[in-house]
Amino acid sequence: MNSFTISTLITASVSLIFGVFVIYRNNKSLENRFWSLVCFGVFVWQLGLFLELLSKDESQALFWNKFLNVGAILIPIFYYNFVLILLNKLKNGKKLLNFGYILALFFLCFNLFTSLFVKGVPPAFNFKYWVEPGILYYPYFVYFALYFIFSFHKLILALREYKFLKKQQIKYVLLSGLFGVGGGVTVFFPQFFGIYPTGNYFVILYLILVTYAMAKYRFMNIRLILTRSILYAILVGTVASFFALSVLVIGNAIGGNTQTSKIITYIVTSFIVVVFLDPVKRTWAKVTDKVFYRGKIDYQEVFREVGNVVAREIDLYKLLAGASSLLADKLKIKQVAFFVPNDKQEFYLFVSSDQEKQKFSLSKDFVTYLEKNRKILIIDEVIRDLGNLDEKSEQYQTADYFIKEAEAHKAEMIVPIVENDNITAIILFDAKQSGDLYGQDDINFLEVFVPQVATAIEKSKLYEEVEAFNKELQQKVDEKTKSLKEVNVALQARNKFLTTIQVVTNMISRTLDLKKINQMIADSIATELGYVGGMLSFVDRENKYLKVGAITNNDHTRQAFHILSKEPRDYQTKLEENYNLSAQTFLTGKINFSDKLSDFLAPPVGKAEIDKIQEILGIKTIVGVPVFSEARIIGLIQYYLPIKRDKISSLDIEIMTALTNQVGLVSRNLKLYNTLQEANADLQDANTRLRELDKAKSEFLSIASHQLRTPISAIKGYLSMMIDGDFGPLPKNINDVIKNLFESAARLARLINIFLNVSRIESGRLKLEKKPIQINELIDSVIIELINQAKQKKVSLEYKKKKTVPPLIMADADKLREVVLNLVDNAIKYTPEGSIVVTVEADNDELNFKVTDTGIGIKKEEVKTLFRKFVRGSGVAQIHTGGSGLGLFIAQKIIKEHDGQVWAESEGSGKGSVFQFTLPVYKENGAPIYKEETKITKK
Ligand code: ADP
Repeated sequence: MNSFTISTLITASVSLIFGVFVIYRNNKSLENRFWSLVCFGVFVWQLGLFLELLSKDESQALFWNKFLNVGAILIPIFYYNFVLILLNKLKNGKKLLNFGYILALFFLCFNLFTSLFVKGVPPAFNFKYWVEPGILYYPYFVYFALYFIFSFHKLILALREYKFLKKQQIKYVLLSGLFGVGGGVTVFFPQFFGIYPTGNYFVILYLILVTYAMAKYRFMNIRLILTRSILYAILVGTVASFFALSVLVIGNAIGGNTQTSKIITYIVTSFIVVVFLDPVKRTWAKVTDKVFYRGKIDYQEVFREVGNVVAREIDLYKLLAGASSLLADKLKIKQVAFFVPNDKQEFYLFVSSDQEKQKFSLSKDFVTYLEKNRKILIIDEVIRDLGNLDEKSEQYQTADYFIKEAEAHKAEMIVPIVENDNITAIILFDAKQSGDLYGQDDINFLEVFVPQVATAIEKSKLYEEVEAFNKELQQKVDEKTKSLKEVNVALQARNKFLTTIQVVTNMISRTLDLKKINQMIADSIATELGYVGGMLSFVDRENKYLKVGAITNNDHTRQAFHILSKEPRDYQTKLEENYNLSAQTFLTGKINFSDKLSDFLAPPVGKAEIDKIQEILGIKTIVGVPVFSEARIIGLIQYYLPIKRDKISSLDIEIMTALTNQVGLVSRNLKLYNTLQEANADLQDANTRLRELDKAKSEFLSIASHQLRTPISAIKGYLSMMIDGDFGPLPKNINDVIKNLFESAARLARLINIFLNVSRIESGRLKLEKKPIQINELIDSVIIELINQAKQKKVSLEYKKKKTVPPLIMADADKLREVVLNLVDNAIKYTPEGSIVVTVEADNDELNFKVTDTGIGIKKEEVKTLFRKFVRGSGVAQIHTGGSGLGLFIAQKIIKEHDGQVWAESEGSGKGSVFQFTLPVYKENGAPIYKEETKITKK
């Protein structure tokens, strides 16, 4: 066996393994099936060659030669078929393809059943048997060459047409074909070129190239398995060769071929293998990774870094900008772009790792396709799947459109970000910088990463909403603050207004001098209101003109008004229409404005002088406000303002009006005050006179009573003696007259007593001599004194005593007796018929004396007034002419002096009355005293 033979065996076995492997991976894919057929073709060809070379005789060699030709005939047409499938061009190449198959069949038949294809197997070069071509071998060569040329032609054209993954795949299929054909041609037709068929060594390259394409460009989708298989194959190879080598080396080193040396050798070798297996494995893994995964990415690291940005950023733009640039940087991708939907649900380019990228939107169809296929889409895979679809189907159309748009954006991978069943963003990944393709690792990474981005986007959207809400809130707060400020300013102005008015009011309320007040108001126009000044004018109704009441008095105004030839007060403004604005203001009662002082003051003052004054004072506007007092206009105030009319605020007007109203009010109040003052003085005069008169009267009463008392007492005494029979018995008729005389004298005495008491009370000479007394005896003595009087009127009079004596009271016995006497006397006087009952009730604190009669009674409204001086009930004059209206007045004074109370009660006229008083009970050591008192002297 030489190296050529071995190369055929290797090529045959590797082709078989690959053929089986590829069909096993995906037996539904036409691509896989036809590549398997190509592999099987190579297998048949190389196996036949191998067996032919090892044949023992010619017939055997011929058989294997015909066998190998079967493979050789089928390879070009299978390869062509595979290329059409790969390029999606099955339809346009159909005729040529079918023709090829017919040709292949034709050659196959001639190969198997005639010697027209192969004449024989004579030795050639250093081979024992080699093909001797028959007549049909030459057209076969043409067929072989043509179909490979067709294939290459199509592949080369396609290279320009396709991009990315497909392009790479096509490139390798083309290379693989070239190597296969290059090698094969030298084997089939060494005679033509007169060279040794060295090309066979290269045939294996077709497989190596395609295998590389499979691994690197996911050709036929067997990348991962393939790379791992290669890794392990190489590993097994390494270990095996190492094992063999070490056995050889160690065996030689220790010498001999004994059992022991073998055992030692195996132990040492096993030890070495165990120790070095792992590092060797790792080294190989690294090597294969370098070949198949140039610049392998540490996804853990990327995940950590990008995850950090995603977790930390809250602002959507910053979040996606950070993620896109980090992804692009770490995954070594040319560009990563994020698309997010706008209000119209159009996904527009929001941010891209390539900042200069122009803004554009994704089409609706593109997004719809993504919505249907909610997963990470690698364009090359979508393209590959397209091969399995009917071109006319809608699925094909939409996918095709999707691919075209993705390719237009140079996107190789499209990742939808889904949250709550909605696509919230789309990521477009450009090609990797290395030219590598997106593989399972990228998908695995993104499958973990995308949900994180989805949550982050949701989070930042919420944040944006909150931000927007915040802004709105802030705006509202600002608006409210502004309006509050405005209100505040208005309030401040009003406050100032109120303070000003208050200051002025305070000032003027301190004096009652109208002149002073007017001057104060005039001055306050400058000091409080802050204007230049002002002038108050009042009407003289008799003479029908206005005269100056006050002018703001300060250095400034003094200096200005000094230029007048007369005193300001000497000018008179006639109250005629059209005289000047002052007259006008007074007559119409309306506020007037002017920018010329002369409008208000000329005439009577000269215009030139006035203009000068205005200039000196810098007056810009004059406001004339009428002064009202009790609905009458009594004058006006001119306010001199240093500002133009349009600068005068409504508040200014309000202040001026308010101040003017104060003047009206003050003048009214002062008028009232003066009237009151006068009335008061009159009253005081009258009062003094009255008091003098009263004093004279009291004195007269006192003198008169004193003068009357002595003779009346003498008369009473003599009359009493006569009645008592001291002057001998009197005839009956005389006796009656004498008794009447005595009664009259007694009444007269009482009356005199009353007058005396009144005069004492009024002159403050009523003096009490209080001591503890028993009221019973006092009442008894009064009853005795008045019982005759009652009998004469045929009225019963009785003191209904209680069983227990009443407690002592602290009283002036004489004065209290006068009270009791007066109350009982009144009862008799005002009771035409019926009865009079006297009662006394007492508890530990108070004693109550009561006279109840069945007399004329008292009108309700008169009950209280009877105790006043000289007051008598209405209509009593007819019943009892002799009353003075003083008895109850004195009684009340005396009872009050005893710390008691007296009052009358009556149901009304004709219904009788009750007169009663209460007095505090006399106490010793806090307890009332109950005992009969010694006699009370009768006066
Ligand atoms: P006078 O009895 O001298 O008029 P008084 O001061 O004693 O003066 O009484 C004032 C008035 O009270 C009487 O004029 C009478 O109208 C009324 N008055 C007093 N006592 C009685 C009474 N018991 N019944 C009705 N009216 C009475």
